[in-house]
Amino acid sequence: MKRVLVATEKPFAAAAVKGIKEVLDNAKYETVLLEKYTDKADLLKAVANADAIIIRSDKVDAEVLDAAKNLKIVVRAGAGYDNVDLEAANKHNVCVMNTPGQNSNAVAELVFGMLVFAVRNRFNGKAGSELKDKKIGILAFGNVGRNVARIAKGFGMEVLAYDAFVPAESIKEMGFTPVASVAELFEKSDIVSLHAPATPETRKSINYELVGKMPKGGIIVNTARKEIIDEEGILKAMMEREDIRYATDIMPDNHAEMTEKLGDRYFSTPKKMGAQTAEANSNAGLAAANQIVAYFEKGDERFRVNK
Ligand code: NAD
Repeated sequence: MKRVLVATEKPFAAAAVKGIKEVLDNAKYETVLLEKYTDKADLLKAVANADAIIIRSDKVDAEVLDAAKNLKIVVRAGAGYDNVDLEAANKHNVCVMNTPGQNSNAVAELVFGMLVFAVRNRFNGKAGSELKDKKIGILAFGNVGRNVARIAKGFGMEVLAYDAFVPAESIKEMGFTPVASVAELFEKSDIVSLHAPATPETRKSINYELVGKMPKGGIIVNTARKEIIDEEGILKAMMEREDIRYATDIMPDNHAEMTEKLGDRYFSTPKKMGAQTAEANSNAGLAAANQIVAYFEKGDERFRVNK
């Protein structure tokens, strides 16, 4: 019988755990729960006889992989998987997957929550502006970016998009306007919504020059990763351009300085909120359980991230 460890420092909602267990029960797998653990030793003990692990933001490093002698697969319930040591997983022949797309709608809805909050002057009673007929530029047209585009259409916005790997032709076929570069996206968009992953190419790529290219009254909204922001550069640009606003779901390291210097033009959620919905929580957990069953029963490696 396969043993699937659900190791979550921050547990799934009870309904999600129930759903995961049902999927695994149906496959005649055993579900082992390790929730709210505070000591890594507990995780090391629990992985010892697991065939598969479902995690959230939990760290699966070389030490954990060394301790997991039977382990074949780790599934990160969520999009980002920088909490798993892929090199060590390769050494141990362990398949690593994420569950892309399961929280994208949640993140995309938050983008619009943050945007309405910004354009309505944080609900301070003074006249703000509308999103209709504004141009929104979507940087990286993946799962979240496409959901932002879908919702933006409902707001009556014009959608521009750039993705380093999605061809312009595909963006056009989906009914949106491709642009040729990140710089062009910033030049042409009233609002730029960031959805690129943190990679060596994107690290600190949202910088002084790009922000300076925005049209008057430009807004940047970040629900991606803080690593892609050049925090000093963005602050410098916003000190020079008093019309630019910045809203982020990933609190920057210089949050205090941003708050002090930019006042109401800057906003950060206190904690990353993008994927924090009951639906996303449950979707990702269920997808993880289904992917594990499909992997063992059919050799399905579609969502493998360590090729
Ligand atoms: P995804 O993998 O579906 O899409 C990412 C897209 O980025 C892909 O289309 C890819 O081609 C593109 N891309 C990669 N490198 C690029 C580059 N250098 N320039 C332009 N485009 C590039 O991922 P997703 O699910 O859409 O997630 C997007 C981002 O949102 C990720 O950074 C993820 O970590 C973050 N995220 C945040 C939250 C939150 O709670 N705020 C939740 C989920 C995801």
